[in-house]
Amino acid sequence: MSISPTFQSVKLSSASIDLTNGIETSDYFNVDLKRTEGCEMDACFAAFDRDADGFLSIGEFELICRALFRNDRGKIYGVEEKQLREIFDIFDLKKDGLLDLQEFEVCWNRWIKVCTRPRCAFLIVDVQNDFISGSLNIKQCAAQHDGSEVIEPINHLLDTVTFDAVFYSLDWHPVDHVSFIDNLHMREVDESSPVPQEEAKVYDTVTFKGPPSLKQRLWPRHCVQDSWGAELHKDLKIVDNAIKIYKGTNPEVDSYSVFWDNKKLTETTLSSQLQDKGATDIYICGLAYDVCVGATAVDALTSGYRTILIDDCSRGVDLVDIEKTKAMVIASNGVIVTSSQVKAMVEGRDRRPELGYKLALEIKQSLKSQSNNNRK
Ligand SMILES: [Zn+2]
Repeated sequence: MSISPTFQSVKLSSASIDLTNGIETSDYFNVDLKRTEGCEMDACFAAFDRDADGFLSIGEFELICRALFRNDRGKIYGVEEKQLREIFDIFDLKKDGLLDLQEFEVCWNRWIKVCTRPRCAFLIVDVQNDFISGSLNIKQCAAQHDGSEVIEPINHLLDTVTFDAVFYSLDWHPVDHVSFIDNLHMREVDESSPVPQEEAKVYDTVTFKGPPSLKQRLWPRHCVQDSWGAELHKDLKIVDNAIKIYKGTNPEVDSYSVFWDNKKLTETTLSSQLQDKGATDIYICGLAYDVCVGATAVDALTSGYRTILIDDCSRGVDLVDIEKTKAMVIASNGVIVTSSQVKAMVEGRDRRPELGYKLALEIKQSLKSQSNNNRK
């Protein structure tokens, strides 16, 4: 095993050279990704248990993280000490400052295996005619983005990356939908509304009386069921076995997220389909960045998925809101990437610590509810 030039530029303690078999442990998960298949757990534990005392110390666990969180060119992503400690503590079930083989089994099965072998869903949000050249052409919105620009990079991903599942969402409104400005007269606006009924213009937000009362941004009529405007753009590649998810079908409530309507009254089938596919990671992109893409990413993170937003495959309505969307995704331990980075991530060759941290937090929650249930 030769030491790669990229390795030489990275300072590592001499402890990370495994002299017993000549394999650099920081390369551990890259030398052969098959290591995480089958029953390789014991071998991994032994490789990182440098002092062979039968336990992994925090220092030895740090070596695992250095090996785990790297990109496909061998660059090691740093993990902050506080975060490293937090992750270690999650797997240190007996709270003795060491991981024994039994504790490592949870770490291996639920964390390392997912980090190296994620199951990836690709979710393409609302790449429909109306948003690109129809009645809600986003070019006419503040950011003046051209929605058609997402098609080529999305098609390239569909051609070159093997996802475990591909979803297309469609905004799919009945004619009397609450979000259409020309339907404003159909419902009563509440006195508390930020804009009164008679002054409301397109893109304003009003409060409908309900019940339930509903804050609603007013859009031009768009994506009416079975109309040309609601069709996916003709140049967008539709892959075999893809799943289409229709949203915004209830006339009384809008639906930005592909998971839920805006009032969380009804759920689409996305969650159950993701579970069926065993998805761990969701790559999200499409139209519009700061509306449906952003709302979907937030729900994906809330639902516990490792969530990746693809920046150059998304276009939006308002630049300030796009920045807010990005900040929210990052603050919730999601990541924002460009499409050129996706293939290596899906194949487990580029492994992001943010996603590892997100998963560890989910494992922490599930261990907690497990132990609560056991106590009952
Ligand atoms: Zn809509």
